[in-house]
Amino acid sequence: MLDEKVAVVTGASRGIGKAIALELAAKGARVIVNYNGSKEAAETVVQEIQDAGGNAECYQCDVADFKACEKFIGDLIQKYKKIDILVNNAGIVRDNLMMKMSEQEFDAVLNTNLKGSFHTMRFVSRQMLKQRQGRIVNMASVVGVVGNAGQVNYAASKAGVIAMTKSAAKELASRGVTVNAVAPGLIQTDMTEKLSDSAKEKMMEQIPLARLGRTEDIAKTVAFLVSDDAGYITGQVIHVDGGMVM
Ligand code: NAP
Repeated sequence: MLDEKVAVVTGASRGIGKAIALELAAKGARVIVNYNGSKEAAETVVQEIQDAGGNAECYQCDVADFKACEKFIGDLIQKYKKIDILVNNAGIVRDNLMMKMSEQEFDAVLNTNLKGSFHTMRFVSRQMLKQRQGRIVNMASVVGVVGNAGQVNYAASKAGVIAMTKSAAKELASRGVTVNAVAPGLIQTDMTEKLSDSAKEKMMEQIPLARLGRTEDIAKTVAFLVSDDAGYITGQVIHVDGGMVM
């Protein structure tokens, strides 16, 4: 159980982040539902949690913005005097073939997916070291391990997340703070809705368990990684992908 824990979930207004927020709240955590533009959706997530008897609030912050993240995490530490759990889930895609990809498309994805995770970890880590406990989970992707045509920006960002996770795990381990990554395969969300049917079919052929993943599949894994039961796991990449990478 996660009673009394303060958990920050970035990009929790929909998709995987929403499922993580609901799962952690159901286990007793007070959840900070971060979003960038989708205020109404984030408020609905908070309402859902409260209706189920849980604790949550939302907080707008563009994770790509270093200064905004400093304020975001600083405000929460001031309010709660601690942060037990950080889930870096916020992410975007700007797919294009490499020879057509603009600098803006490349930078936007790196700034949100990779730098965004750095920003929040940067500001949470001092507090977690002081507490001598903490759990960080970063959202990677199968694409960060095997690559994908049309996604050089996204693949680079997720490979970066994996390397950053391992480095952060080494920096923080001596004070009981664990840092792990979850690498989802193809999960049914708005992000994958954008894929063409032929691209989805092609990816389905590579899934031994022969189905798309559900947001709950990821949420349950995150809930385990942030629990007391996972205290001896750090610096790992947990693949939740129906067997795509094995
Ligand atoms: P999604 O449905 O598109 O939701 C993305 C979430 O990220 C939204 O809540 C969005 O909030 C938030 N977000 C985007 N940019 C942000 C920013 N700059 N600051 C704060 N929040 C921001 O995506 P998803 O499919 O649930 O994916 C969630 C994570 O899993 C991502 O990191 C993604 O790369 C990873 N992943 C997904 C899949 C998949 O198959 N779906 C597979 C592998 C990995 P706003 O709407 O408010 O901007």
